[in-house]
Amino acid sequence: MKDLLQQLIRARSTLDTGEQAAAEVIATHFQRYGVDCRIDSWDRNRANVIARVPSAGKRPGLLFVCHLDVVGPGEDPWTYPAFEGREVNGKVYGRGAVDMKGPIAAAIGAICEVVASGAELQGDIVFAATAGEETDSAGVQRFAADLSRLTKPAGVIIPEPTDLAVITAHRGLFWLEITTRGRAVHSSMPQRGVNAIVSMRRVIEELERYEVDFPPHPELGKCSVSINTIRGGEAMNIVPDRCSIGVDVRTLPGQNTDAIRYDVERMLARLTAEVPRFEATLSVVRCAGAMETDPDCEFVQGFCSAVDVDLTNAIGFTTDAPHLAPLGAPIVIYGPGKPNQCHQVDEHIAVADLEAGQACFKEVLLRFLT
Ligand SMILES: [Zn+2]
Repeated sequence: MKDLLQQLIRARSTLDTGEQAAAEVIATHFQRYGVDCRIDSWDRNRANVIARVPSAGKRPGLLFVCHLDVVGPGEDPWTYPAFEGREVNGKVYGRGAVDMKGPIAAAIGAICEVVASGAELQGDIVFAATAGEETDSAGVQRFAADLSRLTKPAGVIIPEPTDLAVITAHRGLFWLEITTRGRAVHSSMPQRGVNAIVSMRRVIEELERYEVDFPPHPELGKCSVSINTIRGGEAMNIVPDRCSIGVDVRTLPGQNTDAIRYDVERMLARLTAEVPRFEATLSVVRCAGAMETDPDCEFVQGFCSAVDVDLTNAIGFTTDAPHLAPLGAPIVIYGPGKPNQCHQVDEHIAVADLEAGQACFKEVLLRFLT
């Protein structure tokens, strides 16, 4: 399993290289265990990989959904190369070690162990690893477009690194870009132009006062709004004709993003009516839903008892889980590795954590499928 993780780290799968190489590593591994596995490729180097272990079909199966892609290594230097998978003092270093190639290796390790044991499975195992979770969710959308060929599983497992905590809820994200337009003139006569940065100040003031009308969630807290990027202006002597901000809204389960969009559109319309020569546009850059599974449902209860965890939790980051909602199956997020290692320089996972993860995934497979 450690070898599989090291091969996966070497099969770089950032946005610029695509996921094909990592998909091939997984397909080769499954085929070695006689597990049927196919790669779905598009756009030259993008790829999903889907494996299926058939069963007697007497019970609903289990579906694992992972992401193959990783974020880039970042600007800061690494102690060990980011795409080598070097093992030092019982830890494997490399981009994706925790997010999420380590948990992938643990899940595949458990599946292959169960297959090799010859256990008679009563429900199918389907394993999917998809492209682009860190960017556009292209892979999971492609996979989810065809969910009708799957029979509804007992549950879906998303092996993100949770340090073996069972996660049943996370917030969603709704990214907005607001652009103000002005009129560029030489700044020795600013009164002849319209300053897009000054217009944006009004927008920022409004957004700072904006409270999203939605009740807080007991574990996830409030829906939050944060202005995280700003761009505007070309030169010290030109009145800027364009300014843009990026706004990150983190949404709660059950919340309707159309309502947020409507609020912001209304706010911009009011400024257009009130402020002379004010002009602004709004666009949605990205939208990913929140997720919530009933922690008291049979699947979550069975899962918790298999992995010996008493309490379920919520997390701060988002996953591809909302794309799987049409399946109608309960979803948990669970895997080995410290979540604070995600996207960091010197990302690593302890081999002991990988092994613990594999053992827990095996317990889950045996509990639900034998
Ligand atoms: Zn991840």
